[in-house]
Amino acid sequence: MRPYNFSAGPAAIPEAVLQRAAAEMLDWHGSGMGVMEMSHRGKEFISIYEQAEADLRELLAVPPAFKILFMQGGGLAENAIVPLNLSRAGAVDFVITGAWSQKSVKEARKYAAEVHTAASAEASGFTSLPDPASWQLSRGASYVHICSNETIHGVEFHQLPDLRALGSDAPLVIDCSSHIASRPIDWSRVGLAFAGAQKNLGPAGLTLVIVREDLLGHALPICPSAFNYQTVAENQSMFNTPPTWGIYMAGLTFDWLKQQREGDLTGLAAIEARNSAKAQLLYDCIDPSSFYVNKVAANCRSRMNVPFFLADESRNDAFLAGAKARGLLQLKGHKSVGGMRASLYNAMPIAGVQALVDYLQEFERSHA
Ligand SMILES: *Cc1c(COP(=O)(O)O)cnc(C)c1O
Repeated sequence: MRPYNFSAGPAAIPEAVLQRAAAEMLDWHGSGMGVMEMSHRGKEFISIYEQAEADLRELLAVPPAFKILFMQGGGLAENAIVPLNLSRAGAVDFVITGAWSQKSVKEARKYAAEVHTAASAEASGFTSLPDPASWQLSRGASYVHICSNETIHGVEFHQLPDLRALGSDAPLVIDCSSHIASRPIDWSRVGLAFAGAQKNLGPAGLTLVIVREDLLGHALPICPSAFNYQTVAENQSMFNTPPTWGIYMAGLTFDWLKQQREGDLTGLAAIEARNSAKAQLLYDCIDPSSFYVNKVAANCRSRMNVPFFLADESRNDAFLAGAKARGLLQLKGHKSVGGMRASLYNAMPIAGVQALVDYLQEFERSHA
């Protein structure tokens, strides 16, 4: 058995996906070529791309009015590409809820004419989400940016804000890099969603952008052609060579997701139920203990990334060494926050979380 990998990203990939990729590595479906060696314009790769797009559209119930773009550059490049395409030389609003939205607002200042912080949870140490009713949205903003799951601080929007109900017509932009495909997305509230693939969809190198059609065609003149959403959309993500291996691996992951079952549930509903149970299992272990602590408010705790601390931090090294010896990998917290972090992405089975909980309890018993 492989160890359980709690990495925040690049992160664990379902074993069935890795095995299929390994089996097809030298010869994809009798073509005599591996996927990395194929022309992106050949019929073999086009079929891989079309299947991946159709499966993602089905899984996430993406409406026809949205384009799915397979890009490169990662989440951080999108921090520049979004204002280059959507800011229209106007004002843009940001809600700051942790390290990732902080990075996004900083980058947007290079490209957007006016950048406004509508709300910030910094005073809480990013352990809560500012109530949408308190957000100071700008009149006529080109868009409102949020990070719907803060990977480092472990804070998640369990519901996306309804900007129209808050009196704003601006499209909502979500950086959903670290929880995409872990739960459904309410597209009626979203203008654009972007996500790097390396948390929940496959290897690093692929970035997904799902954007409402009416937002295309307004890029700033300085926007690089390869990053102009309209150009990318008009060319079915093949204006230049797309990340072919990443698209193939994401396609295998979509296929795996469609096959998931939990009771009567299938696909994304099954994965969501499982993710909810996994997170509950871990929080229910941490909360009653005075040995471990998670500081995030209950109504916005992430199901994907669970930062936690040992009350006595002098035991951190012993904790991590013991975890590794048991096949529980990559539990060290992000350097900016410290402590521990367990990332419970789609590829993490319930058995992995149970193994972590068993270890937490045993470590507490032997050190309390
Ligand atoms: C991991 C992550 C990113 C990082 O993107 P890269 O450019 O691919 O490193 C951006 N946003 C969030 C929320 C993330 O979790």
